[in-house]
Amino acid sequence: MRYIDHDELELPEGWLERAAQAADLVAAGADPNDHAEVWRELKDCLAALFPEKKCWYCESPVDRSDNAVDHFRPKGRVSDAASPHSGYRWLAFWQRNFRYACTFCNSRRRDLANGTAGGKADRFPLVVEGSRLYGPGPLSQEAPTLLDPCELHDWELLGCRQENGKPCPTSSDQAERLRAEESIGIYHLDYEPTCKQRHATAVRLVSDVEQAKRLFGQPGMDEEFSSVARKIKRAISRKAPYSGEMIFLLRGQRHTDHPWIQKLLEA
Ligand SMILES: [Zn+2]
Repeated sequence: MRYIDHDELELPEGWLERAAQAADLVAAGADPNDHAEVWRELKDCLAALFPEKKCWYCESPVDRSDNAVDHFRPKGRVSDAASPHSGYRWLAFWQRNFRYACTFCNSRRRDLANGTAGGKADRFPLVVEGSRLYGPGPLSQEAPTLLDPCELHDWELLGCRQENGKPCPTSSDQAERLRAEESIGIYHLDYEPTCKQRHATAVRLVSDVEQAKRLFGQPGMDEEFSSVARKIKRAISRKAPYSGEMIFLLRGQRHTDHPWIQKLLEA
């Protein structure tokens, strides 16, 4: 996961008016899904906010043409709500509630072969359930449990294990760890095929770091070192698959003998 700046979203001509009309109809009792074309119209604009049209939750590089506009706060029912909740219908056409997501993160599924299940669907747990909104109100009242790519620092709470590519919390703070663990389950970030790809990416990164460490400071090896350092830089760029987790792994490789690692992370 990486930070996505929603302020960069460019809306198509006349979209706000179409959204306002749909919102009025829903406020009068219409089903948000009957006006799905309004959020679907933003699919490409949302995808453009993150390179390679990667899923905002899992950074999966696979070309998944069925990627969808996910409502971060569900537009339909909310299964985590303590009282029956018919969804954040009043946010169904609010562009800041939209996230670009792959079906693996967005839709409920069970991976019987590997014993995991996930997919966001109607899940939206809160840190404090009692603060949940059941109608229009200040969103700042709610603290979502799910890590949100559109929050500045949430992505940093998510890392992965070098040995198997499985996602893991990065923080030592108990509350932050819980948010990461819940998000891993609900976004199905531990889906085995995704872990395999993440693992392969991690293996390449760590092998490049080891090579760079061997070359660093060796007489006559400056060019070779630079070439490997550039490769590592690409692996943590926003274009790269699982770049958030690769940044976490690279942070773990820092060493006083190798100040170039910190420089790569800062550059
Ligand atoms: Zn995804």
